[in-house]
Amino acid sequence: MPTAKSKASKSAHMPLTATLNKDNLKDAIVNHLHCTLGTDENKANVHAWWKATCAAINQQVMEQLRKTQKTHYFNDTRAVHYFSAEYLMGRLMSNNLHNLNIFEPAKQALFELGVNIADVMEEEPDMALGNGGLGRLAACYIDSLATMEMPALGYGLHYEHGLFRQEIKNGAQIERPDSWRDYGNPWEICRPESIQEISLYGYVETKYGEDGRIQKEWHPGSIVKGLPWDIPVVGYGGKTVNVLRLWESQSSDYFNWDVFNNGGYVDAHAETVQAETISKVLYPNDETDAGKELRLIQQYFFCACSLKDIIRRYKRAHGDDWSRFAEQVVIQLNDTHPAIAIPELMRILVDRAEMNWEEAWAISSKVFAYTNHTLLPEALEKWSVRLIERVLPRHLEIIYEINHRFMQEVDKKWPNRADIKSKLSIFEEGDQKMVRMGHLSVIGSFAVNGVAEIHSKLVKQELFPEFDELWPGKLTNVTNGITPRRWLKACNPALSTLIDSKIGDDWPLHLEKLSELSAFAENTEFQQNFMEIKHQNKIALAQEIHKLTGIDVNPEAIFDIQIKRLHEYKRQHLNLLHIMALYKRLLENPAYDMHPRVFIFGAKAAPGYKLAKDIIYAINKVAEKINNDTRVNQKLKVVFLPNYRVSLAEKMIPAADISEQISTAGKEASGTGNMKLALNGALTLGTLDGANIEIAEEVGDDNIFIFGLTVDEVKAIKGAGYNPYDYYYKNAEIKTIIDWLESDYFTPGTPGALSSIKRSLLDDGDQYLVLADFESYSDAHKRADALYRDKKAWAKSAILNTANMGKFTSDRSIGEYVERIWRLQRCDVSE
Ligand SMILES: *Cc1c(COP(=O)(O)O)cnc(C)c1O
Repeated sequence: MPTAKSKASKSAHMPLTATLNKDNLKDAIVNHLHCTLGTDENKANVHAWWKATCAAINQQVMEQLRKTQKTHYFNDTRAVHYFSAEYLMGRLMSNNLHNLNIFEPAKQALFELGVNIADVMEEEPDMALGNGGLGRLAACYIDSLATMEMPALGYGLHYEHGLFRQEIKNGAQIERPDSWRDYGNPWEICRPESIQEISLYGYVETKYGEDGRIQKEWHPGSIVKGLPWDIPVVGYGGKTVNVLRLWESQSSDYFNWDVFNNGGYVDAHAETVQAETISKVLYPNDETDAGKELRLIQQYFFCACSLKDIIRRYKRAHGDDWSRFAEQVVIQLNDTHPAIAIPELMRILVDRAEMNWEEAWAISSKVFAYTNHTLLPEALEKWSVRLIERVLPRHLEIIYEINHRFMQEVDKKWPNRADIKSKLSIFEEGDQKMVRMGHLSVIGSFAVNGVAEIHSKLVKQELFPEFDELWPGKLTNVTNGITPRRWLKACNPALSTLIDSKIGDDWPLHLEKLSELSAFAENTEFQQNFMEIKHQNKIALAQEIHKLTGIDVNPEAIFDIQIKRLHEYKRQHLNLLHIMALYKRLLENPAYDMHPRVFIFGAKAAPGYKLAKDIIYAINKVAEKINNDTRVNQKLKVVFLPNYRVSLAEKMIPAADISEQISTAGKEASGTGNMKLALNGALTLGTLDGANIEIAEEVGDDNIFIFGLTVDEVKAIKGAGYNPYDYYYKNAEIKTIIDWLESDYFTPGTPGALSSIKRSLLDDGDQYLVLADFESYSDAHKRADALYRDKKAWAKSAILNTANMGKFTSDRSIGEYVERIWRLQRCDVSE
């Protein structure tokens, strides 16, 4: 709301603090071209326009940031500190313009300067400091926290290189470095005044204090500096601007002679990781445990820097009085990646603040809460005791102590049950003794949540049943959500305007209001408008597809989209087998009855995940064959769009008719891509897994295509001894398609180039039950095809998808965290 004063201030002499409008935006952009970038309107290239526009927007962002920080400081509010190794922020210009409610003025200002805002926005590199869903969730959550005016800080790593850029060469994925910051990032503020130093390696000395008390002193082998970069997080409405603080590692000029003299430096020398490498690269693994020393150091580095930062801020207000720490500070652990923060806080309290263990634990165990993101055994983080001992010797001792006391508690509950003890222990015995970070997180947190109803149920029943028995109520659910600001308002402006015209424009803050659209689901005119927008979005995506791949697709076809990280459990290869089946059906029967369909993929594979890369290769090879086969390519096209990332998702999602969410039941914790697509009017074709189940409940069975085995059926079929060959021999279509993979039909001259997929589906046991679900999947596609031909029926279902997505706003998720876990108060940032 512009005040009388800011309204009165005319553009020419506008103070930097005024609310931006078209005219002063124009002035500010030109001013930044001249004074910040040293160019002018005639010489400036798109990059300079982008930088100048961001600088102009920043005038208002920084003003609100300053006010927010002042308000939070003076109110001394309890705040949540979101610890995440990943943030998949995407681009910020459009987001910040929308959240400040100055997108239209900015568009007009640039237009009057002879520049197209879309071209300017396209110049911005994605901030891709994350892999996939987990990192994007963190980004959606900090958007909601700022929007809901909650005191919150995000903490993470300032990776020099984000997730690799994917190129496709002759069908195969090539990884190129992502250099998102090479030409500067206009959104980040360097804060050298808040540098922290953290320790690594070395040894622990046991001393006895004057009172006879044991004192531990860690003599580190090396010291690393953490330099914070702050990214402003602009809430919708533009009032609260919180901060995402990301740590960059730097070598410390400090040389620890004490350590050197005691042999610690020499000890650690061979293993010492160069300080600068710590924040160099993001580990590109999604859903697998990297298990690398550097990764453990990354985790410790950002947790230790962040804790020091939190404690510094707390002490500014409370001095050395720790009694209110747990009232003021709550830390949310986004998966186990930051779990090392638990022993780190204990170390600070016991070794530095000289508390006894009980006092320290009473504080620490009220500070942390943990979100579990996966049940996949290969993704549950474990570190070898030897590694932790070398890198963080004092922390290992503390973890032993936490475990020792926990084992006593277990023994009280289940006396003399060595089996339960070894199952629940933080330590896993074996060739290599390991530290289970999930167990540490559950034990060290006051709340643990899964991310969808089914997932949380499985966390309780399958992953941590004894913990649930020991501490009833500690394990809970908060179903994930997505921010409707980015995932509808900004990415689908035409649909947003249509929605505004029907139900008013406050749905981005109150997404449940979308349900009012249900009243128009059968209204012919509304259906036409809704589907015309979808059609225009498909034309735009078709142009993008042509630009990126040279492939022409027909916007009249069904756009069937699967976008997500490439993983066997997500079953892109099930989609591929079905495409091959359609191809075969069309070849055998040119009159095969199907509406034209374009299958569109976007997916990055972890560079070391061989089969995932083979699946990408197979999709591209099958695509090449089909797209060039004039016998079928009027009805069937296959597109793999390279370098899937947030900004590409924003172009694909508004154009989707069908959303493929086809993971093996029980494997996808929640999914959030499913929510984004349904919000934009795509019909889900999916399994009863993760949040698909809750999406089905919201939209109703008529407006979703559910197929496949349920969680219980998966368990039963595996228990009975699943044999994929049964399906292979029983179903002639499956057999032909799978045998195709071994021929050179799709890879002329190199037979067997796709045979690793066949092997995984047969000899390796088809872990993810692709063959078991194939027929049911194929049937679901037939139902989808039939519904699409009934234009009115499809339009109605598409509208009802958008109308019933209210539950999946990240504001609802954050509201649940705030109420049930974080217990925060809204903090009004006015003046
Ligand atoms: C939402 C999102 C994801 C998560 O997708 P799922 O289908 O839930 O796995 C991954 N990557 C990007 C870029 C996203 O925007």
